[in-house]
Amino acid sequence: MKTDNVDYTTFTGWIDPPGDVRSALDEGVTCEVAVIGGGLAGMSTALRLAERGRDVVLLEAEFCGHGSASRNAGQVAGAPGGDIQLLSLLYPKRFPGIVRFAENSAHFLERLIERLDIDCGYEATGNVCAAVSRGQMGRVRRVTKLLRKAGADVELGTSEELGIPRGFLGGMRESVGGTMNPGQFSLGLRRALLDSGARVFEGTRVTEVTSAGDHTVIRTSGGQVRAKKAVLATNAFGGELAVTPKRLSVPIWVTEVETEPIDPERLASLGWTSRSGVVTQHNIMENYRLTSRGTIVFGVRRLQRGTSYPLPPRTADGAVVADLARAFERRFPALADVAAARAWGGWVAITPSWLPVAGTTREGVYYSAACNGHGLAQAPYAGSLIADLIVDGEQHGDLVTIWAKKPAFPRPMMMSPAGLRTIWTVDRFNDRINGSRRNALRGTAPVH
Ligand SMILES: Cc1cc2nc3c(=O)[nH]c(=O)nc-3n(C[C@H](O)[C@H](O)[C@H](O)COP(=O)(O)OP(=O)(O)OC[C@H]3O[C@@H](n4cnc5c(N)ncnc54)[C@H](O)[C@@H]3O)c2cc1C
Repeated sequence: MKTDNVDYTTFTGWIDPPGDVRSALDEGVTCEVAVIGGGLAGMSTALRLAERGRDVVLLEAEFCGHGSASRNAGQVAGAPGGDIQLLSLLYPKRFPGIVRFAENSAHFLERLIERLDIDCGYEATGNVCAAVSRGQMGRVRRVTKLLRKAGADVELGTSEELGIPRGFLGGMRESVGGTMNPGQFSLGLRRALLDSGARVFEGTRVTEVTSAGDHTVIRTSGGQVRAKKAVLATNAFGGELAVTPKRLSVPIWVTEVETEPIDPERLASLGWTSRSGVVTQHNIMENYRLTSRGTIVFGVRRLQRGTSYPLPPRTADGAVVADLARAFERRFPALADVAAARAWGGWVAITPSWLPVAGTTREGVYYSAACNGHGLAQAPYAGSLIADLIVDGEQHGDLVTIWAKKPAFPRPMMMSPAGLRTIWTVDRFNDRINGSRRNALRGTAPVH
């Protein structure tokens, strides 16, 4: 794969920034609820509150959708992220609830797209956790068993049975979920928010959140908000604000690449008949998906740790793009001559437990970090459940599942720059060992 003409964009490859960015807050205002951060979590919290008649202000540092909301791969997962075997071992009682939360998040998102009539090319194809080696196939089988036991709608099959390219041995399809253009989704959600009764201030960075009696005072670059309640929806940037619980999450930079448009006949010859998004079973996954513009978007494989706040704006790293291109050639040998056209990345928040989490950091100040790289559906669902809690005073069962009773979190393991490099090295070592076996196994007997 050629990588010498890649367009390294600082935003995303999916869309251009909106042309109608709202003006910044430059005065003191009061409201019932202030939402900090206009990503998927923040926009859906504010929209829900406005729809339910609440006086809500949303404060966004850049423009709504500027963060990972518009930068992600657009794969709507129906199952939890992270290492399923480890999660079921560490949290045996909560595990079925977490599976239900993930599945309900995907259904929530589908209903939201339909209700708001957002044109984001959503295809309800499900996603496949695919194996590239015999070892990964064993892992997929174990994960399928665990997820089925917890009530998930998943099926096991060969690549032919699942309609995914022959570069993968087979895998497990999560029937719920699919793929979309996340940039268009984000713009659609922003449009619905701007059309609601919410007051939206963009270009407005929150610098401090303090308590004053029974109110919360939020200072911004040019103004101030006095609110009865506040919701932190700042994702990976949370660590920039002292009010965010310590060790809630660590910021990790994730990269995506898009190919040039590929001849439709060549795409058809891949056998990708289901059009399902694909993620591999490496310790750090690779993701692959088709787009409506005849390209393939692929990414992750290497996670880069943010080491200090404020998180810098950045482009994708050329070495990571080259590494992803090598993976692409291996999974799609027939497309080895296709060029990479653009690359981008974004900051995600990884929690120490690898589970979505929500709670209050102090009286009247709510937070959620529902992502761990799976927030496309989970972040807006959690945001909307927090809005309902504020209005009704009662927690939905799915919010109870991810609720942290106290805002106290352990130090995250294996998330140091050295730890992440080690995980990447282990994955490449396994790839090398399994490479020849994989070729021998491809297209053999059923894997059930
Ligand atoms: C490259 C990449 C690929 C991904 N692929 C997938 C995928 O395929 N499927 C999936 O489910 N998930 C995926 N994710 C994860 C998913 O995109 C995120 O989990 C989700 O977008 C999180 O939403 P959010 O609202 O919490 O955060 P964000 O969308 O990041 O929003 C946070 C917002 O807060 C604003 N903000 C921060 N600090 C302040 C402040 N002090 N004042 C005001 N505003 C502030 C930021 O500007 C930003 O707009 C991916 C993420 C990335 C980066």
